Amino acid sequence: MNDLKDRVVMITGASSGFGREAAKMCVDLGAKVVLGARREEKLKELCDELGVDSASYKVTDVTSKEQMHGLANHGIEKFGKIDSLVNNAGIMPLSLLAKGRTDEWDHMIDVNIKGVLYGIDSVYSHMIERESGQIINISSVAGKRVMPGSAVYSGTKYAVRAISEGLRLESSGKIQVTCIYPGAFKTELAFSIKDESMLEALMSRGIGAVAQPAERVAESIIYALQQDPGVSVNEIVIRPTAQDA
Ligand code: NDP
Repeated sequence: MNDLKDRVVMITGASSGFGREAAKMCVDLGAKVVLGARREEKLKELCDELGVDSASYKVTDVTSKEQMHGLANHGIEKFGKIDSLVNNAGIMPLSLLAKGRTDEWDHMIDVNIKGVLYGIDSVYSHMIERESGQIINISSVAGKRVMPGSAVYSGTKYAVRAISEGLRLESSGKIQVTCIYPGAFKTELAFSIKDESMLEALMSRGIGAVAQPAERVAESIIYALQQDPGVSVNEIVIRPTAQDA
C-alpha cells in the first residue's frame, strides 16, 4: 500500500463529516490538501490544525462553476498540481414527493449532481494533460436503491453513479475513477432534512443507533487514494453491519 507523500488531494465538503476526516488522514499520510466548503470558520480551523504547508482552503459553493474552478486553480497555484479530487459535498433533504418541496429538489440537484460535474470539469483537462489523475465521487447506498422519501436524493446519487461510469470510460488510461456508496454513518448530513415527519420516520427506524463513525468511510477514501496509478478501485459499498436496508 502506498503512502500519499507529496500527493495533492482536493476535497469538497471538507468542513465536516467524511471530507473533514479524509483531509486529516491524507495529511497524516504525507499529502497536501486543498479544501472547499461554504463555512469558512470550519475550514480555517481545520487548516490551522493541519498546518499551512500541508493544507489550504478556499470558500467554495459547489453549485457555482466559477467557484469550483477557483478552488482547483487555488490548489494548483499553491501546490503546483491536483493529483486527486474527492467530490464529496452533498445534502440530503429527504421528503415525500407529495410534499412538493421543490426548492429542496432544486438545491439537491444543484449540489449533488451539478457540484460533482463542476468538480470534474475543474480538474479534467489538468489531469488529461498530465496523463494522470484520480477522481473519487461520493454516491450513497441510496444510489443503488430507493425508499419512500428518497426519490430525489436517490435520483441525484444514481446520477453520481452514472457520471462516475461515464468518466471512467471516457478517461480510461489516464484518470483513476472510484464511486463510493456509504450506508449510515455519523456526520451532520441528517441536519439537512428539514421535513420533520421524514426525520422522525428515519429515526424511528433506528438508523441513528446503527450508524458508524465517519472515519470508516474516510478510510475507504484513503484505500482508493492509495492504489497504484495503474489500478482503479471502481466501486466501494460500505454499510454498518447492522444496517438492514
Ligand atoms: P456532512 O453534512 O457532515 O458534510 C457535508 C459537506 O458538504 C459539508 O462539509 C458541507 O459544508 C458541504 N456542502 C454542502 N453543501 C455545499 C455546497 N453548496 N457547496 C460546498 N459544500 C457544500 O455530511 P457527510 O459527510 O455525511 O456527507 C458527505 C457526502 O457523503 C455527501 O455527498 C452525502 O450525500 C454522502 N453520504 C453520506 C452518508 C452518511 O450516512 N453520512 C451516507 C451516504 C452518502 P458547508 O455546509 O460548510 O458548505
